[in-house]
Amino acid sequence: MEEWKQLVRDTINTPEKLHSIFPNSNLEELQRVHKEFPIRINPYYLSLIEEPNDPIWKQVVPDSKELISTGFEDPLAEEHDSEVPNVTHRYPDRVLFYVNYMCPIYCRFCTRKRKVGDPYSIPDQNFEIGLEYIRKHSEIRDVIISGGDPLMLTDKKIEYIVSRLRETEHIEIIRIGSRVPVTLPQRITPNLCEILKKNHPFYINTHFNHPIEITRETKKACEMLVDSGIPVGNQTVLLRGVNDDPEVMRELMRKLLSIRVKPYYIYQADLVYGTDHFRTSIESGLEVINGLRGHISGLGVPHYVIDAPNGGGKIAIIPNAIESLNEEEIILKNYEGNTYSYPSQPFFDEDW
Ligand SMILES: *Cc1c(COP(=O)(O)O)cnc(C)c1O
Ligand code: SF4
Repeated sequence: MEEWKQLVRDTINTPEKLHSIFPNSNLEELQRVHKEFPIRINPYYLSLIEEPNDPIWKQVVPDSKELISTGFEDPLAEEHDSEVPNVTHRYPDRVLFYVNYMCPIYCRFCTRKRKVGDPYSIPDQNFEIGLEYIRKHSEIRDVIISGGDPLMLTDKKIEYIVSRLRETEHIEIIRIGSRVPVTLPQRITPNLCEILKKNHPFYINTHFNHPIEITRETKKACEMLVDSGIPVGNQTVLLRGVNDDPEVMRELMRKLLSIRVKPYYIYQADLVYGTDHFRTSIESGLEVINGLRGHISGLGVPHYVIDAPNGGGKIAIIPNAIESLNEEEIILKNYEGNTYSYPSQPFFDEDW
């Protein structure tokens, strides 16, 4: 059996199993939360936990705070922007296409908590409904295959979906959004890379949240993808007590560049029910961004975005670098807080 399949088979998915590994955890609490939001941690990701409440633990071990919440089930109105069950078509030229709701771990802060882990969320034959929608809408140029985690499907199914999309003439690029390179790097096999590279131009966006997640295994997985000609980007979620710290984020972004992963977005956590305890203030997000820009390579500075409630889409928040602006000059503030004047109009005169 392939190593990743063995890891999936040995996944911890009951409160009792998790409690037997961490005897100091509260079994009754784990059981109560598990009923609402299932537990799932594979042995690889589990091995990254060094101690209770560390940044890895917080991402995957249930917390009773998940049960007291003021958030929303579907804060981004993803269901609203859906004409067919498995496609969200919000932006003019690109869609999210959900192909499963299974993941190698269940992240406690997941935006799709309402779906993830529910084995009835998506029957296989629904690939066809999504593929048909995409085929009929010639304005779609870019498909983001999402979930759950698309790379939890078998090679055969992935090949089927990707090659069907590639046959569609108006589709220019195909992307996969997947935490697999982080949470189950063993899944990135030579065969999988072969399938993906046959269908270029192909992109992957993954989801590292903390420098501890960059290991020998995740490095190898990302390098295999990049060596197959697949640009790999990273989307991080700002999480209280995990990465809401400029120093941690600087280290994360630097390490990502060193494994050839390009930081793409930092998300303000969505208003999902059961995740209040993870949310950080906007100010602390701005502090993180201010701690990146100028301090590390521009390649390592992602956009800080809020996915606007009710389907407004991603909106970038940019710390104010403009001190003042008038007819003559703009006063700019750099990363060290020094100000510089620059003419606000071109010198070129139409009468010359
Ligand atoms: C994030 C997202 C996309 C892709 O957005 P990019 O900014 O192009 O990466 C597409 N559709 C929806 C609904 C999204 O939330
Ligand atoms: S891997 Fe992604 S989709 Fe799956 S639980 Fe984590 S955040 Fe949610």
